[in-house]
Amino acid sequence: MSMLKRRLVDKYGRRMRKLRISLLDACNLRCLYCMPEHPVFMPQKDWASAADLTRITRNLVELGIEEVRLTGGEPLLRKDFMEIVTGLSALPIKKLGLTTNALLLVPHLPLLRHTRLQFLNISLDSLDRDNFFRITRRDEFSTVIDAILTAKALGFRVKINTVIMKGINDHELPDFVEWSAVHDIPVRFLEVMNIGVMKARFHEHFLSVSDMMTILGAEYRFSALNSLPDSTSRNFLVSNNAKIGFIASESNPFCTGCSRLRLTPKGQIRPCLFMEAGIDLKPLTPEEYLDVLPTIIAMKPIKRIFHQPQPMYQIGG
Ligand code: SAM
Ligand code: SF4
Repeated sequence: MSMLKRRLVDKYGRRMRKLRISLLDACNLRCLYCMPEHPVFMPQKDWASAADLTRITRNLVELGIEEVRLTGGEPLLRKDFMEIVTGLSALPIKKLGLTTNALLLVPHLPLLRHTRLQFLNISLDSLDRDNFFRITRRDEFSTVIDAILTAKALGFRVKINTVIMKGINDHELPDFVEWSAVHDIPVRFLEVMNIGVMKARFHEHFLSVSDMMTILGAEYRFSALNSLPDSTSRNFLVSNNAKIGFIASESNPFCTGCSRLRLTPKGQIRPCLFMEAGIDLKPLTPEEYLDVLPTIIAMKPIKRIFHQPQPMYQIGG
């Protein structure tokens, strides 16, 4: 490993190799665990431009970043989304991914096929139209299902992210396991996190991964699949051939293996989802990155922090 790449290793030996870029805070859904009904979004003029994002990412790739994922808010709402993807596709990264609610995905798919962005994590919290509406406050269930199946048919690597909430969609756990097997699409079940609007309702709706496994264990057998040491999810092959994963952000946080840095829509690099502190990379030269990144990495907590004043959609989930 080069000297430069060693700069992205912290004192616990964690090497920063993943970058999550939040492109904006705005969204076209209003998921009840993520957004208030009437959020106030940052002005567009504050967004880092496509050129800034490509330049910043190129500099970070030089220092050891290997995987990049775009998120938000809803990343596909940016008019320059394809320009950003084209810029990032030219960089020597191992994996370029997108986390999206998929409302605007289908029209992008033909162009995306010719880019390196092939890893799509699509959020879907219900397989029932009415429950989808209850959770997202928008009647877009069929748009999302259509986008998922179209992307899969076109050969994209699709995974589903499903936030499970007690009393809201926990009864759908077995439905998702059946759906995963039928469509050959992995589904990852996420614990709802105690952040943003969820803080007020967390204890009412939190369901741990261990409880999810108990519920599913009554009907299915799981065999563990190998995952990388810095993977956020524990993955399993189910007895019906479904592929599922569990992300225990609250009950078993993955901080000790975390290899992730975050870039905010303004171009600020942050050490952790749960820290507001960061440094604006836009004005810095590549040489200056070598001064600021060790400071950022040294701030990275080794244990889960339980206060984040900012909501998830502003930082990038
Ligand atoms: N809008 C895109 C989407 O929904 O996929 C990308 C941004 S969204 C903030 C990224 C992920 O964060 C989604 O999978 C969403 O379900 C998850 N998320 C948001 N708020 C959450 C919370 N309170 N607990 C757990 N996951 C949450
Ligand atoms: Fe929008 Fe994603 Fe938050 Fe839902 S989870 S409101 S789709 S940003």
